[in-house]
Amino acid sequence: MISNRNLDSHTTLYGVFGDPVRHSRSPLMMNRAFQEMGINAAYAAFHVKPDELGNAVAGIRALGFRGVNVTIPHKVEVMRHLDAIDEGARRIGAVNTIVNENGKLTGFNTDGIGYVRSLQEETGIELEGMRVLLLGAGGAARGVAFSLAKAGVRRIVIANRTIDRAIELATAIGEFTDTEGTGLDDLADKMGSVDIIVNTTSAGMHPHVAELPMNSELIESEHIVSDLIYNPRITRFLKEAEARGAKIHGGLGMFIYQGAYALEYWTGNAAPAAAMRHIVEQSLQEQE
Ligand code: NAP
Repeated sequence: MISNRNLDSHTTLYGVFGDPVRHSRSPLMMNRAFQEMGINAAYAAFHVKPDELGNAVAGIRALGFRGVNVTIPHKVEVMRHLDAIDEGARRIGAVNTIVNENGKLTGFNTDGIGYVRSLQEETGIELEGMRVLLLGAGGAARGVAFSLAKAGVRRIVIANRTIDRAIELATAIGEFTDTEGTGLDDLADKMGSVDIIVNTTSAGMHPHVAELPMNSELIESEHIVSDLIYNPRITRFLKEAEARGAKIHGGLGMFIYQGAYALEYWTGNAAPAAAMRHIVEQSLQEQE
């Protein structure tokens, strides 16, 4: 049900810029959060094509939006249109949250910290000293690898279809923890020396639900297997890992907490994570 009866001349505006963007659950989640927080605000999805990104960012200033999330494919390119970049986002090399402070736009990255909070809360794991196999080396992998290293993991093996990208990311994160970059084919000899396996690739994401990021027969019952994908909530990769006795962790919590941290930057108040999760879960169920 769509209701706009509370919007008035004082409503503060927010949004998400992406291409494509119509599949995004962020407006649903953020408007539910504003309602729960009692804030007079509205959050909408904006389909921004790459050659309009500069104009769209100028629009944040011109129209006085308080904040914007940035999603695929703009997370890297948007950085050159901002006035300041938070240290973490600069190191990650990507921005997913913009805060407008009286016309000064600052970029943050809440993907990685959102992921780590979800992983810790939902599995109860102590990350200090853990060894991680990270599948993928794209934008999400960068934030996750940086935040896992900051959380104290001992070693990260980054395996990617395009090996050069795995090596490049391993080198960048090597400043913070022990790393190695490799391909997706020669993982058999790595499995005995990792504790957590994290899929950051898009293999298995709706509508390509049958795809696997690696050979799941290599998974053992001692592994914790995590997938950033939240649509479907339980990917084929996670189902096969669970059948092999591994503990599993899906991507919905990351989505909720990256949004919760963004809200906290914008409003200075704690975000209502439970209400946010509930409405997104409901929407995913309706689609299934
Ligand atoms: P991206 O920058 O486009 O990177 C995609 C990655 O997936 C690359 O490493 C790519 O390898 C790899 N890949 C794509 N198709 C593959 C396949 N069939 N087999 C093996 N590897 C494949 O995308 P991203 O922004 O990092 O997003 C990646 C995933 O994370 C998406 O599924 C997205 O939904 C999810 N995500 C979730 C959240 C959340 O809140 N839960 C947040 C951000 C992202 P190459 O380098 O070889 O192309």
